[in-house]
Amino acid sequence: MVDGLRPDDIVARIGGDEFVLVRCNLQTLEQATAFAEEARSALGVALDVGGRSFQVTASIGVALSTASDTPDSLLRDADDAMCQAKQDGRNRITAFDMRARQRAHRRQSIAQAMAQGLERHHFHLEYQPVFELPHRRVVGFEALLRWEHPVFGSISPSEFIPIAEASGMIVPLGDWVLEEAIHQLAAWQGASDVDNGLWMAVNLSADQLRQPQLVERIAGLIARAGVMAGTVHLEITESSLMDRVDNAIEILTALRALGTRISIDDFGTGYSSLSYLSRLPVDIIKIDRSFVEGLGEGRPDTLIVRAIMALAATLDLHVVAEGVERAEQADLLTELGCEFGQGFFWSRSLRPQEARRWIDVVSRVG
Ligand code: C2E
Ligand code: MG
Ligand code: MG
Repeated sequence: MVDGLRPDDIVARIGGDEFVLVRCNLQTLEQATAFAEEARSALGVALDVGGRSFQVTASIGVALSTASDTPDSLLRDADDAMCQAKQDGRNRITAFDMRARQRAHRRQSIAQAMAQGLERHHFHLEYQPVFELPHRRVVGFEALLRWEHPVFGSISPSEFIPIAEASGMIVPLGDWVLEEAIHQLAAWQGASDVDNGLWMAVNLSADQLRQPQLVERIAGLIARAGVMAGTVHLEITESSLMDRVDNAIEILTALRALGTRISIDDFGTGYSSLSYLSRLPVDIIKIDRSFVEGLGEGRPDTLIVRAIMALAATLDLHVVAEGVERAEQADLLTELGCEFGQGFFWSRSLRPQEARRWIDVVSRVG
C-alpha cells in the first residue's frame, strides 16, 4: 500500500482497528472510491507472520469533503459510511450517503419528539368505518393514530410507528390509543340510536404483546368503559405474530378469554405458515390492501383472495377486506363472499364528530 501513497497523503491510526486515509484534491466520489479500492486490494495481499499466512480484510467508508465540512464532520461522515459497510457484510467499500444521514437525523428527531408529543396532546385518533358488504351498513371502526407535529407537520404512522417500536415508546403510545379508542367506543355505544354491537378495532404492536400487564390493562379498560369485550377487536399484523409465535399464542389466548376479538392485519404480506394459522387464537383475517388493489376478472390477486376466503371458511374466521377504493372491488369482494370491507371508496379515517355521522346515516337507513 505504501507504494501507492503520495507524499501529501495522510495515513493515521485513530483507535483500535480504525485507520484514516486522507487524500487531497480529489474531485469526485468515484476518484475517492477508486483510491479506497487501491487500499483494499493492497491490504488483500496475504501477510506472512512467523511462517503463517494471514489475510486482512477492511470495511471502508468513503466521504468527500464539501465547502461546509469541518475535519470533524468529514471524519463523522466517513465513520458513518464505514459502519454501513460493516452492516452490509464487511470487507467492502461504502460511500457516505447524505440522504441516509438526513433520514437518520429525521428518525432521531422524531424519536426524541415523541414523548413530548404524547404529553402535549399532539396525537389524536381518527376512525375509519368498516362496512358489512352486502348491506353497506357500518358495523365498526378502526382507530388509526395521527400525529400533528408542530414543526414536521403531520407525520404518517407508517413512518413513526416503526420508530416508536424501535425506541420502546410504542408501549405508552399504545396504552394511550387503547384507552382513547375504548372510551370513544363506549361514548358511541351509549347513544340511544346506536347498536351496542358496534365494534372498535385497535392496532397492537408486537412489543405491546410482550407487556406483562397487557391483559389486565385491557380487562380494566373494558370494565371501566362498560363495553362488551366482544366489541373490542385487537389487530396484530401477520409479520409481528410470526415474530415470537409461542409468546403470541399465549397472550392472544388470554385476550380471547377476556372476550376480545383478534384480527390478523395485513394478511398475505407476512409468512404465516398454515399450521400456525390453525393454532393461533384468531377470529378475523384482514386481507391486505395490495390484494384488493389487484382484484379484477381473471387477475391473479382474485385467485388469491378466493383462496383466502376458502381458508377463512375452513378455519371459521371472518374476513375484512382493507383498502377498498372502487365500486368494482366492493362488488367483486361481495361476490367472493367477503363479509366486511373498509376503504376510501366509502370513507377515509375521520375525526370522531364526522365518524359519528356515518353511524347516524346507518341508523336512519337501516
Ligand atoms: P393498518 O392497520 O393496516 O391500517 C390501514 C391503513 O390503510 C391506514 O393507514 C388507512 O388510512 C389506510 N387505508 C384505509 N383505506 C384505504 C384505501 O382505500 N386506500 C389506501 N391507499 N389506504 C387505505 P395509516 O393510518 O397510514 O396507518 C398505517 C399503519 O400504521 C396501519 O396499517 C397500522 O399498521 C399502523 N398504525 C396506525 N395506527 C396505529 C396504532 O394506534 N398502533 C399501532 N401499533 N399501529 C398503528
Ligand atoms: Mg389495522
Ligand atoms: Mg392493514
